[in-house]
Order: sequence, then C-alpha cells, then structure tokens
Amino acid sequence: MPTIRDANGLLRHGLISEHALPEIARVAEQYAVAITPAIQHQIIQPNDPVAKQFIPSSSELVNAPEELGDPIADAPFTPVSGITHRYPDRVLLKITHMCPVYCRFCFRRELVGPGKQMLNASELDEALNYIRNNEKIWEVIFSGGDPLIMPAKKLRPIMTALDAMEHVKVIRFHTRVPIVSPELITHELIDALRVRTPVWIVVHTNHSQEIGQAAQDALCCLSAGGFPLLSQTVLLKGVNDTPQALESLFRTLVANRVKPYYLHHGDLAKGTSHFRTSISHGQQLMRQLRGNTSGTCQPLYVLDIPGGHGKVPIGPAYIKEDRGAYLVTDPWDKLHAYPPSP
Ligand code: SF4
Repeated sequence: MPTIRDANGLLRHGLISEHALPEIARVAEQYAVAITPAIQHQIIQPNDPVAKQFIPSSSELVNAPEELGDPIADAPFTPVSGITHRYPDRVLLKITHMCPVYCRFCFRRELVGPGKQMLNASELDEALNYIRNNEKIWEVIFSGGDPLIMPAKKLRPIMTALDAMEHVKVIRFHTRVPIVSPELITHELIDALRVRTPVWIVVHTNHSQEIGQAAQDALCCLSAGGFPLLSQTVLLKGVNDTPQALESLFRTLVANRVKPYYLHHGDLAKGTSHFRTSISHGQQLMRQLRGNTSGTCQPLYVLDIPGGHGKVPIGPAYIKEDRGAYLVTDPWDKLHAYPPSP
C-alpha cells in the first residue's frame, strides 16, 4: 500500500468523491498531501477523527483575516538556516522540511513539503557551529519537518557532533513518525539516537484512533531503548474537542508509557480556522479532564503567542484571592476557602 500524495490518489482510495476532486486538487497545489499506509489503515471512514487530520478539505482555501504565514514567527528568530533560537537555553534544529504525513492544520504548512528538502552539508555545519559556539544552549530540539524521517546513517553523525558539545545536556526530538510511520522505528535508528546525552522523544498525536498496534509496538521499542517519552497534541475542532476523545487519547498514551506534555491551542496558520476551538472551550475540556482522569493523564494546555512571543499555559485557574485569603475551585466546581499565609 503506497503513501497517498495527491488528489487522484485520494479519489482512487475512496477518501474523496469525484465531485470534490477539482477543489481538493486546488488545495493540494497549495499545501502538501501525504497519508502513509499506517494512517490509511487507521482511517475507518472518510470523515472520522483520523481522516479529518490528513484528508484535505476545501475549507483550507479560506484564509481568516487573523491567520498568518508564519504564525509563531520562527523567521525573526533564525540566526542561521535550520536554527530557531527563541529562548536563551534552547534551540530548534530543523534538518528537514519533509514529513511522513502532512497534517491539514500544520502551523509550518507553508514551509514543509516535497521540494523543501533538508539542510545541505554546509548549512548543517553552520547550524552545528552555531550550537557549538553558544554555551548557553542547554537543550537542542529536533523539530519539523519530521526529524525521524531521516535515515539512521544521516542522523548518527549529527547526534555524535551534539554529544561532543559539553554544554548540550539534553537532546529532544519532536516527531509524528512512531504513530504515522511506525515501521521507521528500527533497531538501527534507535542505535543512532542512543548517545551519552539524554534523548527525550515527544510524540505528536491527536486521537487514540491513530494509535494502532504497530504504533504501540514502536512506542514500546522507543521506551525499551531508554528514551523518556512525552506527547504533544493539538486541540482540533471535530477531531478531539470532546472530553471523551481527550480522555481516551491521554489514557492510551499513559498506558503506552508516554506522558502527555502539551495540549496546544490551534495556531493561527492559514486555512485552518475550521479546526480552531475557542479558548474557553479548551479550558472547559481541561476542567473535565481534571475531575475524571489521573494526574498522569493531564497535559498543560498552552498557547503559542502569535508573533513569536513564546508559549504560555492557558488552562483554567483554580484559585483566586478573596479578601486576604483564597478561594479554591475543586475538580467538581465547588468552592472552598483556603487560609491566608501566616
Ligand atoms: S508532522 Fe508536524 S511539521 Fe509535519 S505536517 Fe504534521 S504538524 Fe506539520
């Protein structure tokens, strides 16, 4: 079963209708399309929570006035190609602009896709030198495109170079590969990633229906390989914006040794308004999770402030000051007094 990469492929697989073909072809000209065999396997019907994340929709042709080409403003924080240096102690290292799938809500959708390949050798050297020469960089985060789409033999020398930098104490990978292309999690890849420096892996996944047996096996391999696993999820209207969907996802992750890390409010990427919920709905969902699920299943609900001003928690507040003391809201919305500090 090949990866679907265009509107005709979607039609052949029965994922769009003949009637929709011209509009979907227009979307595909603008934003890359890829649906891997593993994800095709998890799609039960063309309008389900997995399908909606990957099958293009004519709604993507609508740009809301507040939407931006670079919604979290990577560009002003790019000192050399492949590096985003927004916070003092960490950088993003983007070695490729390719992904195994192309998510319809992607915040870097104008930058990722075929034809926007990887850093060339001299750009990669320059990016590594930037990290080498900035001793305040404590953590290097491989980010999207998807770094784990790269073959082990390309990743190995980069890992060795980072491992030799004394000031780099943590390496982190942000990836969708274990879920959408689990066959790429091989022993060779794990061996290439296993260096002296601790390597954390943050898995991007948005619905429990995405996490089939092969994905669970890939997560198991990574965790057995010694990598702490975290997850990031985007809150998406019509995909996971119900308490049941989030609870099922986070329980599935924890049961597969993955700690839910971030629930992102949808970024203002072009052509994605049909996926965005209100922040108050997101807060309500977080409240419902707090009452119903273990603390291990609770991610932090965050917003990347447009313009590159950083990421902040936007979850509901449970405590407020009241005439010198405090009022605390419990998970079931009842108020309780808490005494002031002595
Ligand atoms: S895998 Fe990540 S970078 Fe790639 S399209 Fe999806 S959200 Fe964007």
